[in-house]
Amino acid sequence: MKVPLLDLKAHHEPIKAEIFKVFEDVFESQYFILGPQVKDLEENIAAYCQSDFAIGVSSGTDALLIALMALDIGPGDEVITTPYTFFATAGTIARVGAKPVFVDIDPVSFNIDPKKIEAAITPKTKAIMPVHLYGQVAAMTEILTIARKHALKVIEDAAQAIGAEDASGKRAGSFGDIGCYSFFPSKNLGAMGDGGIVVTSDSVLADKLEKMRVHGGHPKYYHKMIGGNFRIDAIQAGIVNVKLKYLDGYTAQRQQNAACYTDLFQKSGLLEKGAVRLPAAIYADSGAKHNHIYNQFILRVKDRDALRAFLGKAEIGCEVYYPVPVHLQECFAYLNHKTGDFPESEKAANETLALPIYPELTPVMQGMVVDAIKAFYQL
Ligand SMILES: *Cc1c(COP(=O)(O)O)cnc(C)c1O
Repeated sequence: MKVPLLDLKAHHEPIKAEIFKVFEDVFESQYFILGPQVKDLEENIAAYCQSDFAIGVSSGTDALLIALMALDIGPGDEVITTPYTFFATAGTIARVGAKPVFVDIDPVSFNIDPKKIEAAITPKTKAIMPVHLYGQVAAMTEILTIARKHALKVIEDAAQAIGAEDASGKRAGSFGDIGCYSFFPSKNLGAMGDGGIVVTSDSVLADKLEKMRVHGGHPKYYHKMIGGNFRIDAIQAGIVNVKLKYLDGYTAQRQQNAACYTDLFQKSGLLEKGAVRLPAAIYADSGAKHNHIYNQFILRVKDRDALRAFLGKAEIGCEVYYPVPVHLQECFAYLNHKTGDFPESEKAANETLALPIYPELTPVMQGMVVDAIKAFYQL
């Protein structure tokens, strides 16, 4: 039996009838873009994400892009972020003409290290863009204190962390000026195509984001600002609306799988041998129910690339998120970074491996994953 990294067929099978109903409803209405499904989704997500307003957009990447545009970030500005993230975080900063300024991660949480942020602030710094990587909230209390002190905006990349809570139960995306989420199919709340959403509790910003989503015209065809086509489809919004009802259940299953891995690894001898280190749920002791929502279950391992190849041959799904930290990407050579600039990010890029953690994964499959890892390390 194979163990895939993700099994969307198994994920969507139980809700097939509800999803087909969405297709049917949209077909009957012939209202394909924005419209009532999107309005519903925006209300539901705003409530779920503890924000006053939500604006559905075309992808998680476009959520980041429209957020930067709405905060007037552009040429001459600097935005502080982490180099250990999916490319879109820094990519969108560069696309608006601003400079991504990297700050290394905390090795336990994999999120931006708040102790290192102030040293990176210059008179050009406009915003901080923390990422809640793998499904765990970044150190937002510290980040917000720094942002307030220096009058900086905060845009949260919550693409991997919808519903994730910090120790106080506050949810990813609700801390800063704008929170950004992705509905890419592999995220915890995925569409069946591209989609994303931004949230804010600032009514002026919400209004601006809504206008910028449709090229910035208001009234239509009269432009005081330049936006873009950042619209979400009715079908995608309808699908996400259906799945949102089940999201807490999916999260509980992911957390149960994480607990099962922890148990299996603790009994495996791999931890004592120093071959494998488990991820830390940093807010676990707080009692926050969604302290970690496990978009990914990330190990630190010895001989990562050899283990990855071994698991590949054994048909055990695994992946590296991400093999090259953003400061070392070729397209950012103009920033003149070199290996050694952000050692924790570089170390994480060399040591981490994501295991299957999707909700439908069974304990038997998890046993196979851990057995295969034991076999690699000859235990
Ligand atoms: C997935 C992801 C994005 C981009 O989302 P898309 O919907 O694929 O455009 C941005 N940031 C992070 C951290 C992500 O994981």
